[in-house]
Amino acid sequence: MTTTPVRLLIHGATGRMGQALLRLCREQDSGCEVVAAVARRVDARVVDGVPQFAAAELAGVPAFDVAIDFSLPEGFDAILSLCIARGAALVSGTTGLSDAQKAQLDTASTKIPAAWASNFSLGVAVLHELVARAATLLPGWDCDIVEAHHTRKLDAPSGTALTLGAAAQAGGAQPHYASIRAGDIVGEHLVQFAAAGERIELAHRASNRDIFARGALHVATRLRGRTPGSYRVAELL
Ligand code: NAD
Repeated sequence: MTTTPVRLLIHGATGRMGQALLRLCREQDSGCEVVAAVARRVDARVVDGVPQFAAAELAGVPAFDVAIDFSLPEGFDAILSLCIARGAALVSGTTGLSDAQKAQLDTASTKIPAAWASNFSLGVAVLHELVARAATLLPGWDCDIVEAHHTRKLDAPSGTALTLGAAAQAGGAQPHYASIRAGDIVGEHLVQFAAAGERIELAHRASNRDIFARGALHVATRLRGRTPGSYRVAELL
């Protein structure tokens, strides 16, 4: 049986994540076809056979099944509105969203299938489960979350640190955060639980952005054709 490729719009296409997504779609059998690459500004109409669109031209993109968004919070509202208008699914990894934007995403998920995650790696999905369990088993222990990223990352603490913190909080811990911005670190998260005389450290280190891009592509292929709703990445990976 042959399945038609998922028609993808990549939002944030000229960025670090956007470029990783486009390369993986070119290199491997991802089951996806990129029909539009959108960025704040574009220098050419077509790159490697993929039509390019500036953010201001978003309304004119061709039909697509799923938008994958790794951009910035200021670009998020437009791609969310477009997905609703076109009845397309949205996979977003953009961090630093405001509370209002998160509420808009919740509302949108009554109309379209949507999956937002601060981190699309399988390892971090598992780390969430471990942190939640540790917090439940260790009442009263100190909980600290230390994250490190490259110097061009804009938000701090990272979206992943905040999501891990929410998992710890749900288990009863009161997490504190520390952020390091240095060099070209792709992404590291350490969750430490400490009490008198002992410490537990749970850590995840990403050395390559492809883990996030592969996760987002996988989620996109699983989201096409689903009923509207807010999907957890852990259940789709
Ligand atoms: P980047 O700065 O390298 O790229 C940002 C991209 O967004 C560029 O293509 C830029 O043109 C585009 N953009 C900016 N403003 C826009 C607008 N108004 N409309 C349309 N496009 C716009 O950033 P990056 O390192 O690729 O990261 C992008 C986002 O993804 C960040 O929020 C980052 O924290 C997040 N991220 C998430 C994960 C995850 O797994 N969820 C992993 C890595 C990065």
